[in-house]
Amino acid sequence: MSDAMQVGRADFDRVMVPNYAPIDMIPVRGEGSRLWDQQGREYVDLAGGIAVNVLGHAHPELVEALTDQAGKLWHVSNVLTNEPALRLASKLVAATFADKVFFANSGAEANEAAFKLARRWAHETVGPDKHEIIACTNSFHGRTLFTVSVGGQPKYSQGFGPALEGISHVPYNDLAALEQRISDRTCAVVIEPVQGEGGVIPAAPGYLQAARELCDRHGALLIFDEVQSGMGRTGKLYAYMHSGVTPDILTSAKSLGGGFPIAAMLTTNAIAAHFAVGTHGSTYGGNPLGCAVAERVLDIVNSEKVLAGVQVRSTLLVEGIMTIAQEFPVFSQVRGSGLLLGAVLAEAWRGQARQVQEAAQQAGLLVLQAGPDVMRIAPSLVISEADIAEAMQRLRQALAKLIG
Ligand SMILES: *Cc1c(COP(=O)(O)O)cnc(C)c1O
Repeated sequence: MSDAMQVGRADFDRVMVPNYAPIDMIPVRGEGSRLWDQQGREYVDLAGGIAVNVLGHAHPELVEALTDQAGKLWHVSNVLTNEPALRLASKLVAATFADKVFFANSGAEANEAAFKLARRWAHETVGPDKHEIIACTNSFHGRTLFTVSVGGQPKYSQGFGPALEGISHVPYNDLAALEQRISDRTCAVVIEPVQGEGGVIPAAPGYLQAARELCDRHGALLIFDEVQSGMGRTGKLYAYMHSGVTPDILTSAKSLGGGFPIAAMLTTNAIAAHFAVGTHGSTYGGNPLGCAVAERVLDIVNSEKVLAGVQVRSTLLVEGIMTIAQEFPVFSQVRGSGLLLGAVLAEAWRGQARQVQEAAQQAGLLVLQAGPDVMRIAPSLVISEADIAEAMQRLRQALAKLIG
């Protein structure tokens, strides 16, 4: 083995492009919902690698799936296919509305594929004028040029111009605005069933259904970006399953690999046909290592036991946070769905989500922000009740200290 070079947080500022601002701690080991840093300090992890570590850290069955596959075959490219990819695709098709799957490596790439496919489908079935994509204000779809352009947060696309054309935004959950914007030139409407980065905001009752009807009326595709809301996080395999509304294209990533980079775009036979040989691709997409891990994640998550446990844990966390908020009024409400929750900062604490995150870290608790006004949590779906209780105790300590 090569000698491990000593590194610390200061090295980040020395050798990394400064597009991130990681907190002042480097984790080196994880187990379940606990993490340990370089100094051996232990944390309860409610951040879950931003809704990725869906079964916690170092889950024995995922370690087994990865190491088994690692001893067999790592990579073959898409000049060949492979067994883990075919098994995972078969299981995704069996579990959802979809007939066909395209694999990628990140949420942005799955969305890039979805948007390109929608344009290609419209181009070939109607013509080049039908190219408009409607997305929601404050939505997040990834960081490639196409996905920041479709995303509804201008700060992510500004300064990267010239801008892509044919993309517009309407306020989330505003049906009248969508109805006014949509036309026969619309090729796709893109919606997150729960807006994640935008502040953990669930779709209003009836919104997805009405969007489906508007898309049907105008011959547009409905795309659900379930990169954050998918893979059991809301208590069903995908959030769309609560609504009874079926999309034409769905994207999945984050929790899909439980921490191993993999993403998928799901669609129907008729739409998939427009990605003919040579129209799109990815060197790593459908890589055997990623697919072997995701197959095991799917087997475990898509079970009555795990899915039913989501709501139980969600209730414990919501009640825990609201009880603490009665004593320390930092939060005004908790919103979201299942184990994708946002504690909204009360008026007096607006803009201070980063301070809350840092106070929590000081108390040994990892949480996320969703914008400056929301503390977000996206823990493991199998976090223990004891870990939830410990997390709530540490949150209480953090808020007590913050309030002073
Ligand atoms: C995180 C996220 C993405 C981007 O995924 P990456 O893997 O970071 O490219 C896209 N859409 C939604 C809804 C997300 O939460």
